[in-house]
Amino acid sequence: MDISIRRTTQKKPRPPASDLGWGQYFTDHMFLMDYEPGRGWHNPRIEPYGPLTIDPAAAVLHYAQELFDGFKAIRGEDDKVRLFRPDRHCARLAEGSVRMCIPPVPTDAMLQAVLEFVRVDQDWVPSQRNAALYLRPTLIGTEPFLGVRPSRTYTFFIIGSPVGAYYAEGFNPVSIWVEQECVRAARGGLGAVKAGANYAASLYAAERAKKHGYSQVLWLDAAEHKYLEEVGTMNLFVGIDGTFITPPLEGSILEGVTRNSIITLLRDWNYEVVERRLSIDEIQEAHTQGRLNEIFGCGTGAVISPVGELGHKDKRLSINDRKPGPVSQRVFEELTGIQQARIPDTRGWLVPID
Ligand SMILES: *Cc1c(COP(=O)(O)O)cnc(C)c1O
Repeated sequence: MDISIRRTTQKKPRPPASDLGWGQYFTDHMFLMDYEPGRGWHNPRIEPYGPLTIDPAAAVLHYAQELFDGFKAIRGEDDKVRLFRPDRHCARLAEGSVRMCIPPVPTDAMLQAVLEFVRVDQDWVPSQRNAALYLRPTLIGTEPFLGVRPSRTYTFFIIGSPVGAYYAEGFNPVSIWVEQECVRAARGGLGAVKAGANYAASLYAAERAKKHGYSQVLWLDAAEHKYLEEVGTMNLFVGIDGTFITPPLEGSILEGVTRNSIITLLRDWNYEVVERRLSIDEIQEAHTQGRLNEIFGCGTGAVISPVGELGHKDKRLSINDRKPGPVSQRVFEELTGIQQARIPDTRGWLVPID
């Protein structure tokens, strides 16, 4: 694939390194590619970052025909920039496209586009520990047509946002509300793909939880409101009696690359990891019996987010005395250590930008 590059003549001022926050600054360029019937995906290009021109009748704006992914380019201690498991992220976007009736971008083309984009904007990859350039490849249906059917035209774009360390003030356990009423995704719905529509479905409950002093919600299954699914926009691990349990991928849960990496690490460390349904009653019971060791969420953004407290109906369960559990901490150190090339990458998870 031949990617044309038009560089900006007006580089943006650099945001303050100490104050990147999350997702509020964007690099100088973006990658774009278009789809039309007959021509397929065509015109791959890198251009100065800027607004898209989109028809107000475009499919994405009405029927949310959209899919994205998110992963990181990280500057190692040796100053080299690497991507963490980009192949898995590109494959996930291609697989999810099928569910969204979007013609998939071939994964090798997607990977080439990501690498070229990061190469062009590589001086935007921050160098502070645990900071990164967050990459957001996105697919949208662009056809101006209000009938309900898949769009005939699409745009694939990649933007990049330099993000700061998630835990600027230390590795902090969060309080989580067990949501009894709203659901994020039902089996058979879009929960297993990274569709923006899932996020729209999640906002109301998340805002309500925040109003009550919780930082996110624990989603239960849509059918019985009983089994744990995800925490906020993260996958979930629960340590009970030294075994780690994570909910199984049965159609409503997003298959996280971080989740997959953690299963590998824990098994390499000789922990038992079980993918099975886990009810909120079982959590309550293990807590009462003192067998609940730790709970953590995981995803690209925070890597690990230890859960310090669960608000469930009128009860507040404190987890591991509201301190990060030892395994949460070890996994965080190992994954960020590999990403920053402080720990050898023995599993081939990193792809360097040359
Ligand atoms: C992106 C996402 C995750 C985490 O996936 P990673 O590949 O680990 O970043 C988990 N749950 C939901 C709902 C997500 O959208």
